[in-house]
Amino acid sequence: MKKWLCGVCGYIHDGEQAPEACPKCGAPMEKFSEIPAEKSALIDRSRKTNQIYMEISALLEQVRELSEIGRDDDLDPPCVALFKKAIVYSVELQQGIKAELASHMGKGKWG
Ligand SMILES: [Zn+2]
Repeated sequence: MKKWLCGVCGYIHDGEQAPEACPKCGAPMEKFSEIPAEKSALIDRSRKTNQIYMEISALLEQVRELSEIGRDDDLDPPCVALFKKAIVYSVELQQGIKAELASHMGKGKWG
């Protein structure tokens, strides 16, 4: 699908045509320019990656919660050690994902 960039605020519109007015800043249609196909494809891939990150982050949340239950059950030292490791890794991965998502948003050009 074609994409259009608001020259005033950087909002990206998906559609065959630019919108009548920018839904974010109200700039008129003339302020929009079409984003080249290659860059448009990059934006789509970035959105897909962000979606994957969101899903993995939700799974990591479950890993952390289950691991806390396992750790608290305290069956034997090797299990507790493994659950503790899973908690540390899931938190670490979630922080990495948050930072990467924030950097995508911060660039303002990845949609
Ligand atoms: Zn705008």
